[in-house]
Amino acid sequence: MDELQLNGPLSRRRFQTSLLTGILGLGTLGALGSLPTEAEAACSVTANRMMQAVIGPGGKLLRQYCDPLYRGYSKPVDDPVYGHVYVRHTGRDFSKAPGSPVRAVAAGRVTGIMNPHSPPRWQAAVVYDGGSTWWIYGHLNLAVRVGQVINRGQIVGTIADPGGLWSPHVHVGAYKIPMPTRTESVQRTLSWGRAYGRTGAEAQASALRYTVDPLVAFARTLGEAC
Ligand SMILES: [Zn+2]
Repeated sequence: MDELQLNGPLSRRRFQTSLLTGILGLGTLGALGSLPTEAEAACSVTANRMMQAVIGPGGKLLRQYCDPLYRGYSKPVDDPVYGHVYVRHTGRDFSKAPGSPVRAVAAGRVTGIMNPHSPPRWQAAVVYDGGSTWWIYGHLNLAVRVGQVINRGQIVGTIADPGGLWSPHVHVGAYKIPMPTRTESVQRTLSWGRAYGRTGAEAQASALRYTVDPLVAFARTLGEAC
């Protein structure tokens, strides 16, 4: 598959959306994102192993999967593209200094690079495991290319300079669909790292329909249910 081109008009609007919502949400990121989810509580040992596997020692869990308070969106916001919406975060964010290496948690083939012509902080690698999961690793200076087969533990890239937009981190997502080559209807409810809905429950349902908690997907690669 060729490098995926996501820089058309739609993508530019998304870029602006991300920029705007990023700025709007900056004040609420830290504390709200650290509330433990059910999976987190049940799988704390595995969760720590996952973070170690991705960014090594010294990192910090910044945001969890399906955080209902993602960027403070426990209340609906007026999104310039999606309208009056609620949002759920569809990955896990691990924070560490820019330049820190990020490693793949599962082997696979790089099937796409999201936003290849944007600054690294907007880029992500999509890695298909050959089974049911498309992993994405975002906000990186990427060290892989489309078509490349990578091993578990291989460096996917290093954490990019966020340009003051957010705390430096990697966004790790696990999709049930071939991200980012998705249908238009999915594009409307699922964007880069987040799911949109008219209600909080709808946003949550969209996230659960198209993605899984990366922690659960990681446990699966270990043959565990955590
Ligand atoms: Zn994220």
